[in-house]
Amino acid sequence: MNIHEFQARQLLEQHGVAVPAGEVCASAEAAQLAAEQILARGHDRIVIKAQIHAGGRGKGTFKSGFQGGVKLCRTAGETFEIARAMLGNVLVTKQTGAEGRLVSKVLVVAAPVILKELYCAVLLDRASARPMVMASTEGGVDIEEVAAKQPEKIVKETVDPSVGWMPFQGRRLAVALGLKGDLIAAGAALFGGLYRTWWECDASMVEINPLCIVAGPEGKESLMAVDAKISLDDNALYRHPELRALRDLAEEAPLEIEAGKHKLNYIKLTGNIACLVNGAGLAMATMDIIQHFGGEPANFLDVGGGATQEQVTAAFKIILGDPQVKGILVNIFGGIMDCDIIATGIVAAVRETGLQLPLVVRLEGNNVAAGRQTLAQSGVAIITGGSMADAAEKVVKAVGK
Ligand code: ADP
Ligand code: MG
Repeated sequence: MNIHEFQARQLLEQHGVAVPAGEVCASAEAAQLAAEQILARGHDRIVIKAQIHAGGRGKGTFKSGFQGGVKLCRTAGETFEIARAMLGNVLVTKQTGAEGRLVSKVLVVAAPVILKELYCAVLLDRASARPMVMASTEGGVDIEEVAAKQPEKIVKETVDPSVGWMPFQGRRLAVALGLKGDLIAAGAALFGGLYRTWWECDASMVEINPLCIVAGPEGKESLMAVDAKISLDDNALYRHPELRALRDLAEEAPLEIEAGKHKLNYIKLTGNIACLVNGAGLAMATMDIIQHFGGEPANFLDVGGGATQEQVTAAFKIILGDPQVKGILVNIFGGIMDCDIIATGIVAAVRETGLQLPLVVRLEGNNVAAGRQTLAQSGVAIITGGSMADAAEKVVKAVGK
């Protein structure tokens, strides 16, 4: 689950990481007020940031033509105008896709004087199978590009989970980033705070891009997390009700939310052959075999090991909620699952939805004879697939016509 920047910075602050002063606002009036308060506290510049679950906002463009989802300004009046241009409009960035995302909140923050932009992130490293803190002197830019073109510019510390993050690792990173004087200890403390945020929230990633060296009032330099992205591990959310409350359904695909309500594991893809499968492994194999026969899967959908008739009907409706779908392949291996329950669910769903698209069903396993009989006697137009390959070939052909 992803959360917004304004939420991520709160979590960071709770773990001792400094962030620019500011407030999240849902109206231009509130943004103006927030700007007045920031100016009254002695800051002289303000940044307004569109809150969407996607990066690249700085270089993004609104569908209205307005340029930039991160804007610098100097007065409360200007803040009002910019907030008004952002709120209620759709922002398109490199990460949103062409459809963009609707902006319903903006973050109004003080703009410190930035001397240098760095990068850092905490994540799970697959290669070492350990937590890792990554940092780079090349902040503010696309880190994937740095990783590809200048991998030596990325420094890493892997963490032994049995001892946790060690302060010396923070100092080592700080020195590797070229920090000097007091900033070495400040950097070490900040990395510790980032790691604690990641660990205690059960995050899958905490990314600060940019992490900034900023100039204070008397020329004293300090470190600040100027952008913040946190992804939380869905499988651990059950033990963090306070984090689960940060979920923003407006940022998630409506069909995926609907699927979640029925405990179905659905992910929309870009093809036109929908699949309804039990078990994640079989779902992946089904997608592969559709591609093998020249088709493109429209989704990943795992109804789970013990799906009910109600879930199968819900799954059909979700599949048909995607206008791209031109054919359906049901591939069920009944282990725990009773094939007849699936068959009954399919028939009910076809009748209820008045399905007109080609439907190929391949059933195998527990109580399969009864399941096949249910399908055969139902009178609904179903193409039966013998083997998995046969079924996939048939659906690709049916859709191709
Ligand atoms: P995104 O990554 O979505 O483009 P960022 O928050 O990283 O958004 O903002 C883009 C750039 O805008 C940053 O690299 C930084 O240079 C500048 N910026 C963002 N927030 C502030 C701020 N509070 N003060 C000064 N500059 C900022
Ligand atoms: Mg950024």
